[in-house]
Amino acid sequence: MIKKNNFSTNLEFLRKKKVFFFDLDGTLYLEDILFEGVQELIKLMKIFNKRFFFLSNNSSISTKEYVLKLNKLGLDVNIEDVIISTHPTIYFLKKENVKKIFLLGTKSLQSEFIEKGFEITDKDPEIVVLGFDKELTYEKLVKASYFLQNNIPFIATHPDKVCPTKKGYIPDAGAIISLLYEATGKKPKIFGKPNKEMLLFKLRELRISPNDAVIVGDRLYTDIKMGIKAGVSTICVLSGETTREMIEKSEIKPDIILNKISDLINFIN
Ligand SMILES: [Mg+2]
Repeated sequence: MIKKNNFSTNLEFLRKKKVFFFDLDGTLYLEDILFEGVQELIKLMKIFNKRFFFLSNNSSISTKEYVLKLNKLGLDVNIEDVIISTHPTIYFLKKENVKKIFLLGTKSLQSEFIEKGFEITDKDPEIVVLGFDKELTYEKLVKASYFLQNNIPFIATHPDKVCPTKKGYIPDAGAIISLLYEATGKKPKIFGKPNKEMLLFKLRELRISPNDAVIVGDRLYTDIKMGIKAGVSTICVLSGETTREMIEKSEIKPDIILNKISDLINFIN
């Protein structure tokens, strides 16, 4: 059932939207269980000619591996349907004409940067790039520290401090950022959610106005905050981290609140 807040009285406008951005964990699935209605929703998106993207901050695996993971979950996804925080990071590096990077990232992430034409090096890099490095070593931290002390520019794919797993939280990119900040006093420029660039770089590419786009997510301080900053419509689903009480108390107010993702089907159909 749809519950509206004060910010929206008419949901008809959703049908006119051209682009839908979907958060993944807590919005379309939890760990490896796809929520009810997701496959139907994606089918409808295709039937009604809506462009849609799956959004994730997790840069520990390449886009190709992400697509495999989503297909395994039963989502019929192409590589161009997925946006991970690596993408606005690469968009920025290309714009700045950077070629040589020192990367704190997994082999999988490395392969994506190499494929996109970057040279991964620990000799005179132009920039230090930090991702969710599940293969982090002390040696890599030492090298990064030296580069940062020498004022080499510093960027990171996303700010999440922890990543949820079945056994509990594990250190994510934000925790590695904190470690390097303690050691060097340097903070990176960050691209993933809640940075609005995560949506805007794609809308610019498609030449679509933020007015014609919607973000659907379960976190107020990343998904919804980013949507508001980017000027797109925002839908918060209560199937993940956020409760109705949290929204009432928060300054970050979504345009629409849905109990679950399948509630969206009626408004697209
Ligand atoms: Mg989420």
